[in-house]
Amino acid sequence: MGIIEKMRLDGKKIFVTGGARGIGRSVALAFAEAGADLAIVDLDIEEAKKTAEEIAAKNGTKAIAIKADVTNPEDVNAMIDKFLKEFDRLDVAFCNAGICINTPAEEMSYEQWKKVLDINLSGVFLTAQAAGKVMLKQEGGGSIINTASMSGHIVNYPQPQCSYNASKAGVIQLTKSLAVEWATRNVRVNSLSPGYMGTELTLNSPSLKPLIEQWSDMTPVKRIGKPEELQSICVYLAGDTSSFTTGSDFVVDGGFTSI
Ligand code: NAD
Repeated sequence: MGIIEKMRLDGKKIFVTGGARGIGRSVALAFAEAGADLAIVDLDIEEAKKTAEEIAAKNGTKAIAIKADVTNPEDVNAMIDKFLKEFDRLDVAFCNAGICINTPAEEMSYEQWKKVLDINLSGVFLTAQAAGKVMLKQEGGGSIINTASMSGHIVNYPQPQCSYNASKAGVIQLTKSLAVEWATRNVRVNSLSPGYMGTELTLNSPSLKPLIEQWSDMTPVKRIGKPEELQSICVYLAGDTSSFTTGSDFVVDGGFTSI
């Protein structure tokens, strides 16, 4: 079998949190194109259903939508139960749901701080933990991909995002910790650190939209990224050709963190 054949995801069962739109949606489309069956997990169940229907119609693979708030342990457990009822096993978890609040540190309320940490870091912990519990018990283990950000490595500028930056640095360390704990038990855990990407999170945020020109100028390739440019690395991490890859963070940022 050639390398491209080996990279396919035929028969793999995957959930994607924050899969209704943006990066999650784009990566979910790629997983399905590579042959996987999917659950789109999101708070926004209407958008999640649309994405699942689009995926199923396009690829002939199975795609369902499950409503869950990743910050709620009961929701996460119920999501896993529904997933297993539908698919029997869980091969890949893409723990991707995240938000951003741009407020100067001295003005940030404790509620704003907690909301970002809750969704971006605790939400990733809860979903990765729940996925890990299934994968540790099943034959063949599994692969977990957590969405961090280049702002887990550097401080985003000029927008003030201390809670976001701290949450994403946390995701990178959480990923490494889980990878080491589960390394001998066939569960791999890696993170993805995108640079500035054009998604609803950035394009539709009144505080971020005006900064897109500036970000493009600050990025060595002189533009922001497209969600499709994160697809291939996620397909690689989800599949069996990445069998020796765990505890790694993959920065995809048009060169931003190199300067
Ligand atoms: P987006 O806002 O377009 O999509 C996020 C999705 O997550 C939405 O569908 C939303 O409904 C869902 N969501 C939010 N809170 C949730 C919760 N509590 N439970 C379940 N679902 C929830 O965002 P995006 O740009 O696609 O970002 C996806 C991930 O990528 C985030 O973790 C983000 O921090 C990260 N990221 C984005 C960029 C960027 O420039 N867009 C850069 C680096 C990292």
